[in-house]
Amino acid sequence: MLKIGITGGIGSGKSTICNFFKLIGIPVFQADVDAKKLLNESAIIRGKMTLYFGSDIYLPNQTIDRKKLAQLIFNSPSLLEKVNSIVHPEVRKRFFEWSDQQKTPYIIHEAAILFETGFAQMMDYNILVTAPKQQRTAWVMNRDNSSAKQVEERMSKQWPDEKKEQLADFIIKNNNQELIIPVLLELDQKFRAHG
Ligand code: ATP
Repeated sequence: MLKIGITGGIGSGKSTICNFFKLIGIPVFQADVDAKKLLNESAIIRGKMTLYFGSDIYLPNQTIDRKKLAQLIFNSPSLLEKVNSIVHPEVRKRFFEWSDQQKTPYIIHEAAILFETGFAQMMDYNILVTAPKQQRTAWVMNRDNSSAKQVEERMSKQWPDEKKEQLADFIIKNNNQELIIPVLLELDQKFRAHG
């Protein structure tokens, strides 16, 4: 079974494209959704987070204090890296347990950071989704009800597309100029043939 990574910057359209694969019956593991869940559910992560950040990183109801965590990591790349180093190994473990149970010719691992964490190397192929920055900003402002400044700040913390383009096996241009579904169907055929 092939493992396909799908990544792309904020608002590039990763999840939208993954929804298409789900529709045609391909299982999709959403690393970012799982990471958020595991922050609350994994005893290993809870132990490490508490050790590093103190027990009040969790609220009295035992869920992570997202506001506090966001404040801590927003302006500190080293703290962000620390959180990632606590969470990602558990997400990876969960991904392999999950992928072992799937029965399709290929499966998809969707993550906002895939090249950055080195996990891309464990995939058979990696797809990068790109879209013009202005378009991504407009989409995310609309989706999250956020300001252009907030979106641009988040974008500036991610690797630029040019860097990720060097590492990707396939690039999907979600720019409303090229038709995407034929490209996705072609990839589906290719992966099925190899899976
Ligand atoms: P994030 O990293 O922030 O989770 P993402 O890469 O998963 O973002 P999506 O959530 O798929 O991006 O897309 C961002 C928003 O843009 C969504 O509201 C989606 O509906 C919209 N969008 C994406 N692609 C298109 C498109 N081609 N036409 C219209 N809207 C689009």
